[in-house]
Amino acid sequence: MTLSNSTAEIRRLDAAHHLHPFTNTRELNARGARVITQSSGVYLQDSEGNRILDGMSGLWCVNAGHGRRDIIDAVSRQLEELTFYNTFFNTTHPSVAELSGLLSEVTPPQFNYFHYTGSGSESNDTIFRLVRYYWELEGKPEKSIFISRRGGYHGSTVAAASLGGFGSMHKQGGLPIAGIYHAPSPDWWSYGGDMSSDEFGLHVAHQTLSLIDAIGSDRIGAMIGEPIMGAGGVIVPPKTYWPALSAGLKERDILLISDEVICGFGRTGEWFGCELMGTEPDFLTMAKGITSGYIPLGAVGVSDRVAKVLLEKGGEFAHGHTYSGHPAACAAAIATLKILREEKLVDRVRTDIGPYLKQKWKTLADHPIVGEAVIEGLIGAFQFTKDKSSRKGFDEDARIGMIAREHSFKNGLVMRAVGDRMVIAPPFTLTHEEADELVSIAQKVIELTYADAK
Ligand code: PLP
Repeated sequence: MTLSNSTAEIRRLDAAHHLHPFTNTRELNARGARVITQSSGVYLQDSEGNRILDGMSGLWCVNAGHGRRDIIDAVSRQLEELTFYNTFFNTTHPSVAELSGLLSEVTPPQFNYFHYTGSGSESNDTIFRLVRYYWELEGKPEKSIFISRRGGYHGSTVAAASLGGFGSMHKQGGLPIAGIYHAPSPDWWSYGGDMSSDEFGLHVAHQTLSLIDAIGSDRIGAMIGEPIMGAGGVIVPPKTYWPALSAGLKERDILLISDEVICGFGRTGEWFGCELMGTEPDFLTMAKGITSGYIPLGAVGVSDRVAKVLLEKGGEFAHGHTYSGHPAACAAAIATLKILREEKLVDRVRTDIGPYLKQKWKTLADHPIVGEAVIEGLIGAFQFTKDKSSRKGFDEDARIGMIAREHSFKNGLVMRAVGDRMVIAPPFTLTHEEADELVSIAQKVIELTYADAK
């Protein structure tokens, strides 16, 4: 028996030698890892032959769907033509130049310069240095503080995890590093109390601006935020939040970084989440959907205002990664952008599959243990609750989200659990029939979880 068809042998090797990310490896080893072996379209297959609808696009990334010939061929052609060369020391290559031109076309108009990394975390660590470098060049080195948010997720490297607002991550490794303040989350379900969603949005925007004023805006370089918080549970902010907050940041000359690692490249039905929220950021951080997850790539978009200072006043930015602008990753990104454009997938998310799924997804909130069901484009969540009117949660020990996640997998759908919130972000190629299947499995998962919770 070859390794590829022996689930037991794969599990044995994995348990003996693989330390998994964001996994309790001891618990995992006691039960054996789920082995995913194949993927096509919106479906995965595990080593036991089960077909599973990939409701999370891998990890919010396989936006164009699995197994796209165009992307695979583009990567393979690139590797044959130029396997690798770096972009340091006055060197470039055709793919990184072409990708930069394409990004300047699809991003908001103020973005015309791009720096490349290998991941979203590296993009956010890059921003940490880039913002401080910018203010040093502007003669204001004291503007070194960052504002981020509780519940925000920006990655796992040192600055990115520090910018993120997860206590569980800060506890490991002595984070956050100095110079970061975490503002409240615009999560109405958890913290909105008796306020309407719109009132709460303004309330949190004002709380954040008060925090900024207490610190002193002359000491603050930038604020980072995801347009819609993803890993924090798909928190769609009240519509009043971003306009009030971004106007306040502009008045105080604080740069805005839109973390588009999940929202970018069409996930919300707009090319970038900042466009949906009506903000005009100074930086974009990107990864995941830029290559539809086929090859790792991250990028930082630098606005004209910042680029002008970097180019006119700066010298060499002493920063970069071996794989900054890796040719194969750039080829995957170019092929992905072509697919998004030619198949009009962003429009499809906004006007076709997004609204179709929304109308079905919203009905999940009719169930007594589902408090709210939210969805914007193709990023959505529903929230389990013990009592809708008081928005009371289940006890943490009940691990309702984990129970639901297991039911979901067993019934052929990947949904992610964030506490007691179940999250989806399916590929943009999802058909209406596949959307029906997704919602009908989600309904079944809710019933099974309800029975377990009783
Ligand atoms: N920013 C956001 C909004 C993310 O969701 C993620 C990952 O999920 C990251 C940054 C980090 O990206 P990566 O895992 O590629 O380092």
